[in-house]
Amino acid sequence: MQEVKKPKKPLIFYYVVVVLILFLFNFLAMPWMARRQIQEVDYGTFMSMIEEKNIGQVEVQEQENQILFTDKDRTTVYRTGMMPDLDLTQRLYDAGASFSGEIIQQTDPLFSFLLSWILPIIIFVAIGQYISRKLMKNAGGPNAMMFGMGKSNAKVYVKSSEGIKFEDVAGEDEAKENLSEIVDYLHNPGKYRDIGATMPKGILLVGPPGTGKTMLAKAVAGEANVPFFSMSGSEFVEMFVGMGASKVRDLFRQAKEKAPCIVFIDEIDAIGQKRDSRIGGNDEREQTLNQLLTEMDGFEENTGVIILAATNRPETLDPALTRPGRFDRRVPVELPDLKGREEILKVHAKKIKLDQNVDFEKVARMASGASGAELANIINEAALRAVRSSRSRVTQADLEESIEVVIAGYQKKNAILTDQEKKIVAYHEVGHALVAAKQTHSAPVQKITIVPRTSGTLGYTMQVEEGNHYLMSQEELENKIATLTGGRAAEELIFASASTGASNDIEQATKLARAMITRYGMNEDFDMVALETVNNQYLGGDTSLACSAETQTEIDKQVIALVKKQHAKAAAILLENRNKLDELAQYLYEKETITGEEFINILER
Ligand code: ADP
Repeated sequence: MQEVKKPKKPLIFYYVVVVLILFLFNFLAMPWMARRQIQEVDYGTFMSMIEEKNIGQVEVQEQENQILFTDKDRTTVYRTGMMPDLDLTQRLYDAGASFSGEIIQQTDPLFSFLLSWILPIIIFVAIGQYISRKLMKNAGGPNAMMFGMGKSNAKVYVKSSEGIKFEDVAGEDEAKENLSEIVDYLHNPGKYRDIGATMPKGILLVGPPGTGKTMLAKAVAGEANVPFFSMSGSEFVEMFVGMGASKVRDLFRQAKEKAPCIVFIDEIDAIGQKRDSRIGGNDEREQTLNQLLTEMDGFEENTGVIILAATNRPETLDPALTRPGRFDRRVPVELPDLKGREEILKVHAKKIKLDQNVDFEKVARMASGASGAELANIINEAALRAVRSSRSRVTQADLEESIEVVIAGYQKKNAILTDQEKKIVAYHEVGHALVAAKQTHSAPVQKITIVPRTSGTLGYTMQVEEGNHYLMSQEELENKIATLTGGRAAEELIFASASTGASNDIEQATKLARAMITRYGMNEDFDMVALETVNNQYLGGDTSLACSAETQTEIDKQVIALVKKQHAKAAAILLENRNKLDELAQYLYEKETITGEEFINILER
């Protein structure tokens, strides 16, 4: 897709140019032109010209301390300095000089009039014409609004051969299937009209950030070969009330002219949030939303304008926006599964030079939970790493390292841990790994490292699931909590003290335990009662409690009991395997990084 609109220069740019031209003109060009015709002479020449009676006009400029005069034929203007000369006036009079003022301007009045009055007007008119022509062209007609205010600045893309197609969007098969119907409709609206079917006017793409919503919308336009208007929700919201509404009107007017076409509104939650009666509500946003609702009602079905919108906060949208007849179809664009991740990696890997033995499946397994955007980033990081180490191809090691970079940041080259700290970190990480390995239903350990990272982690244990995992049993969740507490349990066992290194584990373990009790119904006392609701499923998934204060106290108690139980379980596992714990920690301390295979070898020795 190619964007066809060049970036507009702001209006202030033209004003500055005009002022600059005038300034240069008046202060540099004019005096220069005027000065050009003046000849400097000494006072003696002036006196001898008076004596020869070769004097035409004379003007004494006392302030500038100079005298301007012409010869008898008034062809040349002379200038000389002033001298104390008492009877100068009399002598001049005798020589037949005339004393009319404004000698310079009179030299060529027409020229200077043109210069100082007509030319600036011409420049102003020309620039004015230019601007208004540009405005009209952009707005597509003579009713363009003043100076671009209230004009939608939607980016317009037109058909082009290198546009994004469905094949560029890897995975997301369900979404693609859903959207290919739209493509078919845009190709052949008659087929749908004949049978009396109507296409939805609006389609809402919902999903976490970076999963390819924008890409999908562009791909629909690319496949259907129709113009594509793209605008972000926040671009509608202006400082002045009513401006956003006017932008919406303008956008729809343009879209109707270009139909069939696709209008894409990214981050629609910026304008589509629920209207409520809160004091200090945002008038501008609400007016914009109202206008959007009206416009969506206003155009007839089957006009060929399809509105796609993307959001990662669907729960905040106004119900009026999502009712049938407006955005009535919702297409989920979820985080990719294992196969999806592999495909996305392959699509992006087409752009880089790869070693032959790169195993995309393994990389995809390691990058569990990554979005499409993160996977694209992983590929790019790997390519950068290859360049850094002066290789011409990207290797498997580059890809694996770049996953860690994306997850945990770069290796900190000069972070110096004391010997004791390094030991603690080694035991902590091996504690996690050992507890995971000694339980059933835990993902195999892929790698343990104690190289500090820029994100602040001093080490981590990477566990990689073998395949896709959609459901988790209570036992698996409990084991996961035990694994999380394994680090601290190892520290306690060996050093009989605790360190700050476990803060992240504690947070995760608590979150899991809480979810098990309040949301997954994995507690006998509460049974299948929802005690918490998820607020925004796609952005972090924070929750709010939906129970009484007494129940809250009880939940807290249960959470603590659950984590404590798993912590004790982890401690028992480590105590039982104390020898292996020491051996592995010593090995990790020396090597700093050990692979899953090395780990298993030592464990089974
Ligand atoms: P969203 O709009 O969902 O936040 P984008 O569509 O802007 O995400 O995606 C950001 C980038 O991530 C894209 O430019 C693309 O490089 C990459 N990406 C995301 N999902 C996919 C996918 N399914 N296939 C290929 N690339 C993807």
